Amino acid sequence: MIYFVVAAVALILIAIYYYFKPEQKVTKNVFNAEYYRGLNYLLNNKEDRAFKIFTALMDVDSSTIETHLALGGLYRKRGEFDKAILIHQNLLSRPTLEKELKNQALYELAKDFHSAGLYDRSEKIFRNLSESNTYALSCYEELLKLYEVTKDWDKAINIINKSDSVEINNHSKDLLMSHYLCEISTNHHENAEIERAVVVSKKSLKISPTCLRPYLQLGTYYSETDPKRSLQYYSQAIQIDGDFSKYIVKKIINLTKSSSHNELIMDAIIEISNDKKLSFIPELYIYLLYKGNEDLASSYVKRYHAVNDYDDFIINSTLATSENDDIAKTSPVDNMINSYRKVFDKGFIFLCSNCGYKSNVLNWLCPSCNSWSSSKPITTFDLIDGGYKNARQ
Ligand SMILES: [Zn+2]
Repeated sequence: MIYFVVAAVALILIAIYYYFKPEQKVTKNVFNAEYYRGLNYLLNNKEDRAFKIFTALMDVDSSTIETHLALGGLYRKRGEFDKAILIHQNLLSRPTLEKELKNQALYELAKDFHSAGLYDRSEKIFRNLSESNTYALSCYEELLKLYEVTKDWDKAINIINKSDSVEINNHSKDLLMSHYLCEISTNHHENAEIERAVVVSKKSLKISPTCLRPYLQLGTYYSETDPKRSLQYYSQAIQIDGDFSKYIVKKIINLTKSSSHNELIMDAIIEISNDKKLSFIPELYIYLLYKGNEDLASSYVKRYHAVNDYDDFIINSTLATSENDDIAKTSPVDNMINSYRKVFDKGFIFLCSNCGYKSNVLNWLCPSCNSWSSSKPITTFDLIDGGYKNARQ
């Protein structure tokens, strides 16, 4: 008997469900048609009419709020910041908006302000919103992006200290802190406050010993006052990032111009030439050949010959350059390197390994994809006929 009652109740419930379902569907469709009419007005720059419809719809059903948020985000992506701002501000003007949706709209509005370059207004909203636990990390991430644009490094460091998360914006907190300190160090250096610059770079190096930047900074800062220390930092830098070896070897060779420590520099160059992890460095070969002796140079070349096609290609070009250049043979090494450069490269191009952005200057923060430490130096020669590509395969 009891089974019969249960089955009957279940059947009645199913019947009620199907009886009401079609009606619901109809309302939804009517509502959607109205929504698309609004959307159409918006796309045709008839914002006032669009907002009338949207506002009316929002009174009917709160689900449009999410669609509004999506639409606002879409406008921001398209670069139409004023429209995105209007949509989000319009949402926020609704007195019945739930707290969670209000926070979401505020978060989006702050992003609009950032994109539109209204940094003060963006910062204010993100700061207030970061008090809420749900939004703290997202707001910290956005605030860091904002301080990176406005170069407000002290505030950026404060955010790092506040955040509990290990990673922010896909970077470790230590790496970010290290770069922010390096930025401050650069400012000191530009203001001729060398001692302060050195202190801050050393702090940066301590926080993230695997970040290349402070080593290069200290190498540069010491290059005139203490070439021996400069050399130590440059040598450490090569150990940290072999991709920078050609770039750093040039800096080391430049030290010979202002230094009387030529023996120390030769020792460092020989040590680098023995590092099997590094790829062939034409400048290093030229230096060994003209400042050292032929044995050193040829044993350096031999190690790379036939290891891979790319190294062979570079080596043959290097040998051809050094043999054919008679003037260079009788000139000091600087002239030799200069004539060599005419053939090989006009300095470095920096290629972002994250997004492929190319630049003539080393950007520690990629202006295209906002990633730190992603740019690597390549020579113009590396780019010829896909030489760079081959080297990486
Ligand atoms: Zn990039």
